[in-house]
Amino acid sequence: MKESDMIDHRRLGRDLELFVSDPLAGAGLPIWLPAGAAARHAVEEYVRELERRAGYRHVYSPPLGKRELFELSGHLGYFADDMFPPMRLSADDEFVLRPALCPHHALVFRARGRSYRELPLRVAEIGGMYRAERSGVLGGLSRVRAISLNDAHNFCALEQVGDEVREILRLIREAHAALGVRPAGFRLSLRGPGEKYVGDDADWARAEELLRAALGGMEYHEGPGEAAFYGPKIDIQIVDAAGRESTISTVQLDFDKPERFDLSYTDADGRRKRPVMVHRSLVGSMERLFAYLIEVHAGAFPAWYAPVQLVLLPVDDGQADAAVALARRAEAAGLRAEVDLAGSLGARIRDVARRKVPYAGVIGRREAADGSVALRLRDGRGLDPMPAADALRLVGAVVAARSADLLPSA
Ligand SMILES: [Zn+2]
Repeated sequence: MKESDMIDHRRLGRDLELFVSDPLAGAGLPIWLPAGAAARHAVEEYVRELERRAGYRHVYSPPLGKRELFELSGHLGYFADDMFPPMRLSADDEFVLRPALCPHHALVFRARGRSYRELPLRVAEIGGMYRAERSGVLGGLSRVRAISLNDAHNFCALEQVGDEVREILRLIREAHAALGVRPAGFRLSLRGPGEKYVGDDADWARAEELLRAALGGMEYHEGPGEAAFYGPKIDIQIVDAAGRESTISTVQLDFDKPERFDLSYTDADGRRKRPVMVHRSLVGSMERLFAYLIEVHAGAFPAWYAPVQLVLLPVDDGQADAAVALARRAEAAGLRAEVDLAGSLGARIRDVARRKVPYAGVIGRREAADGSVALRLRDGRGLDPMPAADALRLVGAVVAARSADLLPSA
């Protein structure tokens, strides 16, 4: 078997029961099983927390909307081939599954008058959107038709764009470090000759300059002519186990949608001004992110988002009660813990390793008697028996630090 088959996320996703693709549900519409959902939930909580601390405001918006919304946004004009056909309720009532969250977030900005004091206004959501991908290109989580995007739209004045993009890049680096994402490269997409662009030349030149400055000191590739018609962007690329490159994080300036949605704020001098919209994603869609994380970690996630963090293994039935009681304490301490009672101890230890669970806690007669547990780490290291409270503190510290190591740093 080839190395790339061993770490194919589809195979690992099946073996570790992370997600399932059922033809009855439809190609490109995977279902997240409890283990995959637990890992994703931990990652989503982390991303929201990171954003909240950085001044983002989270919203919820529906994954479909009236046809007119997407005519106004331009998606039906430019992007219709990638969208599912509209759903007709009546002659004047048609809905489409959205291909992006920006139109709804523009409506959040427009929900009332805005002042320059509120800028940058950072509207964030891990939200659903849809792409009518052809069935031939679909596979596992990497190409799907239903997408949950870690998205935000930062509305700011043009002079704020430089600081805003620098801060976004800092958040991207922080999220990548915590998750174990190893970016393959940065691309700066710029205007090119012979293409049509919206927005005036001076704004474009300024925006391109600000993006270059925000990337200052980092290594990146410049792509003249690669920008969207509505603004320049920075893409952060990853490479999957099969060698395919794709974008995981993105920072896109947009001069077009503020115009289309007639967005404005009142500036310090009392005049109405047009904000710039920055589309950004720290970690991309949950689907593509997990396709990548499953492969890059070969299923052995860092403890903080491992589906199950601790499996307790009584040596025999006499210690079952002690194991169950410790699992309850672990859960009460916020950990994801299980007890495995069935089969020989050796077989259970092998099963914990097969499932890539970071910690196994073995409880024999002596441990049950004195309230201790012997931790075995996923990498094969074994620790001497320690009081149960110390073991929970150890695992809790590694999880809280979002460390890639399984022992707390001294
Ligand atoms: Zn957007």
